[in-house]
Order: sequence, then structure tokens, then C-alpha cells
Amino acid sequence: MFAPFEYAQPKTVSDAVEALKSEGAVVHGGGSDLITCLREHIINATKLVSLSGLASELSGVTAANGGLRIGALTTLTHIVDNPDVNARCPGLAQAAHEVGSPQLRNQGTIAGNICQKPRCWYYRGEFNCIRKGGPICYAVGGENQFHCILGGANCYIVHPSDTSPALLALDAKLTIMGPGGTRTDKIEDIFILPEDDPMRETSIERDEFITAVDVPAQPKGPRFHNTYRKVRARRSWDFALSGLALALAMDGKRVIAGRAVLSGAAPVPWRSHELEQAIMGKELTPDVIDKAAEAAMADAEPMSKNAYKIPLFKGMVREELAKAAA
Ligand SMILES: Cc1cc2nc3c(=O)[nH]c(=O)nc-3n(C[C@H](O)[C@H](O)[C@H](O)COP(=O)(O)OP(=O)(O)OC[C@H]3O[C@@H](n4cnc5c(N)ncnc54)[C@H](O)[C@@H]3O)c2cc1C
Repeated sequence: MFAPFEYAQPKTVSDAVEALKSEGAVVHGGGSDLITCLREHIINATKLVSLSGLASELSGVTAANGGLRIGALTTLTHIVDNPDVNARCPGLAQAAHEVGSPQLRNQGTIAGNICQKPRCWYYRGEFNCIRKGGPICYAVGGENQFHCILGGANCYIVHPSDTSPALLALDAKLTIMGPGGTRTDKIEDIFILPEDDPMRETSIERDEFITAVDVPAQPKGPRFHNTYRKVRARRSWDFALSGLALALAMDGKRVIAGRAVLSGAAPVPWRSHELEQAIMGKELTPDVIDKAAEAAMADAEPMSKNAYKIPLFKGMVREELAKAAA
């Protein structure tokens, strides 16, 4: 059951800022996650502020200075099909393509994808878990086969978005609009670990909204290797059991610069500094690849039912680095 709510559809960015000032107002993008969150009472809104009236202003992909500006309301389908995204950062197009089903990609926006709520069945179910202000995380000692193996501490969700790890690998920045004006944050800096605040996923305030995602020009090597790999239990729509976003400047088999980000591993898109250190400046030989796979999982702390993720991640890292070397 839904609690009653008002609906506003502002036509300008400043009207949207104004509409979000009322307490209990929340941003409505494509609604593909938000509506379920209202039904499951993990978001209690008295007013939905739809950004759909700003579509002409906040949709689309523009190429600029070797990078890309993606409007917050750009649909995932648009990103999958966009030639500039495919030419400059194919890993982002691959990540958007991995989201849900065609219907969800048609409806879902890039900003909503970044800001969606986690999928833990205790959080989404009728449990007063720590993420809802309750005393404990029910995944500890419960059904934790899809929960995190890194970064858990007091709550063991996994970050659900496929595009966030890809954007983090690309060092993307978000333009965020709110009552105090506009600010720009690296996507890497917005995610909040449960040990810092188990009730928030990002530092974006309730009365703020993303207006654009900027992907900077990527480091130039002789070759830029940008991919997103997602392993899931089913071929139809499903969230990542494990995933890896790579954005690597390569010279032959040697890694010159870049980033590696895990999905399905942690409560935030997990930049694996250990994996990066294991490959940086090195040729991707079988030995280096093996050591990188071990390094990526060195700090993993599985729960009672998700230890399978460790060999899954190691195998996936080996396969993806072997492809980068090829
Ligand atoms: C069956 C199913 C399968 C799915 N599978 C996947 C999957 O495989 N991978 C994946 O990544 N996602 C998946 N999703 C999640 C989700 O539908 C998509 O991520 C979608 O991109 C969300 O975008 P939206 O515009 O519909 O967001 P909304 O539902 O409108 O919003 C989601 C959240 O983001 C906030 N928000 C929306 N726009 C903004 C903005 N501009 N600024 C700040 N906050 C904003 C909302 O307030 C809300 O909290 C799935 C969802 C369903 C229902």
C-alpha cells in the first residue's frame, strides 16, 4: 500500500529546487526503483518531484574536450546506443546494457541508477534492520548469499548499480543542484560506507538532485581498455553477484595507468587499490594476473553463505585481465 503523496512536475531547475524544499519531498526520475521503495516503505515521501518536465534540458549526451557530459535524465537505453559513449567509454555502455531488462533501461535514468536503494531482502522486507534505524543487520546469521564480502562492518548490503562502478573507473564527476546552488563532486566521493552511516547510501541530500554526469577525457595510452563485466545468477534481469569495471591505459600488455572497480562486492562501488597496485606499470603476464586476482580478494571477509564470491571474483578478474592483455 502507498501512503498518499502530492505530485509536482516543475518545468525549470529552479522550480524543482523550490519544490524539493518541502519536507517529505523526494526526487522522481524514471520511477523504476522509487515506486517500489514507496510501496516497501523504505522511502516515505509526502511529495514526489518529477524531473520529467526538465527532460529537454537534462537529457542527452554531449561530447566535449575528449570527455562526455551526460544529462541526469538520460535513459540507460540512450547511453547503450550512443555512438560517443561507445567510442570513448565502451565500458559505460556495457554497464548500462547490463541493467535489468529493456523496459527498465527505457525508463531508468542514469541519475536514478546511481541513487537507487540497495536490494537487501531484510531492508526491503518487514525487518527493522540497522539501515532503517533498527538494532542489527539481519544478514549476519541470516540469508546472506547475495551480501557483501568487503566493506561491511555493521550492515552488509551490496551497492546495486551497474553504471556507478563503470563511472567510478572513469573518474566521473556529478553536478548536483540544491538550495545552496550547484556543486560538483567526484562520484568516488559521494558513496557512504555503513560504518560511517548505515542509514545513508550517498552524501546527496534529500533536497538536492543530480543534473549532469561528466566523464573526463581518459588517460592516453597507445590503447585504452574500458570494459564492464557482470556475473549474475540468471540471464534475465538480475543484480551483480560479481562485477568488474576496468579503465586502463595500456601499452601493449603493459598497464600504464587506470582504475579497477568491483561491483557486487561491497556496500559501495569498490575501487580495488590492491588490484590496481598489482598491475600498475607491469605487463599482464599470467603470473601478474594471478597475483592481481589474489590481491583483489586479500581483504575479503565472507559471511556464512557467500564465500563462493571469492573464487567467483578471482576467476572473473583473471578472465578480464587476460582480455585486457590480448
Ligand atoms: C526488476 C528490476 C531489475 C533491476 N535491475 C537492475 C540491474 O540489473 N542493475 C541496476 O543497476 N539497476 C537495476 N534496477 C534498478 C533501477 O530500476 C534502475 O537502476 C534505474 O536506472 C533507476 O532509475 P530511475 O530513473 O527509474 O530512478 P527512480 O526510481 O526515479 O529513482 C531511484 C532513486 O534515485 C533518486 N533519484 C532519481 N533521480 C535523481 C536525481 N536526478 N538526482 C538525485 N537522486 C535521484 C530517487 O529519489 C530514488 O531514491 C532494477 C530495478 C527493477 C525494478
